[in-house]
Amino acid sequence: MRRRLFRLVIAAPLALIVVGAAVALSLPAVRHTVAGLWNLPDRLPALPDNSQVHYQPGAEDFARDVAALLPDAIARVEAVHGRRFAHPVTVGVYATTQAYAAANGLDSTSAVGVTFAGRVYLSPQLFRRQHQRLRAILTHELSHAHLQGWIGQIAYIRLPTWFKEGLAVMVSGGGGAEFVSEEQARAAIRRGEQIVIDEAGSLDNAGGGLRVGRTPADKPPWYPVVLAYRQAGMFATYLRESDRPAFDRMMNAIFDGRTFAQAVTIGYHDDAQSLWQKFIASNPDRK
Ligand SMILES: [Zn+2]
Repeated sequence: MRRRLFRLVIAAPLALIVVGAAVALSLPAVRHTVAGLWNLPDRLPALPDNSQVHYQPGAEDFARDVAALLPDAIARVEAVHGRRFAHPVTVGVYATTQAYAAANGLDSTSAVGVTFAGRVYLSPQLFRRQHQRLRAILTHELSHAHLQGWIGQIAYIRLPTWFKEGLAVMVSGGGGAEFVSEEQARAAIRRGEQIVIDEAGSLDNAGGGLRVGRTPADKPPWYPVVLAYRQAGMFATYLRESDRPAFDRMMNAIFDGRTFAQAVTIGYHDDAQSLWQKFIASNPDRK
């Protein structure tokens, strides 16, 4: 009797776990995360002279390009974020888009760089047709990885996406926003085509849901996304250039585990929405 009870007590939760796992795995986002954790770049060979850069066999030349750019990219991120990396970031470079997509936690080939589980993933596109974007995209992704290294995944998801992307675009000198100019973004803001300045992130937009909602229908599908990245980058630049001590106070508060809203208050004695209004009223020529 006791044995049957024991079996029941063990078997019922076990069945729930198995059913729960099956349900979870049927969700694409969970499946991609599991695939990503299964394919961490740490398991790939590293360059003999740079243990941070791991590569899929066949991508060794790509890995050497990345290693050559890495010291400057790291220095840039540390200078703007105001803190050293919590620990060295693994960078995975891939020879095939299939391997890149399987590893990057999104099963995505549309983004040429992804940060997932504290690692940076770079698409083979950055070694081929889009090689001129490599420096900026590497720096952009390292900005995300630097934040994740200090505050962890959960606190990172809670930061608003516009802030994380704007910071990364600013740090990288426009990485991720290359195809929309500042002038085009300013004109869009004047027409009311603006990003939403929320004070927190959520799981819904953790996969990079930043986009300008109201844009002309004749634009290509990537336009509202890249426009949003450009606007976010310009706003981040405004925040840093208009008041450097406030920006540094805000960054330190984020690294110390405060919520984004708290960090903005600590930095600027203001809120993000009000700062956005000041940004759009500012004159870009007076910088
Ligand atoms: Zn990004």
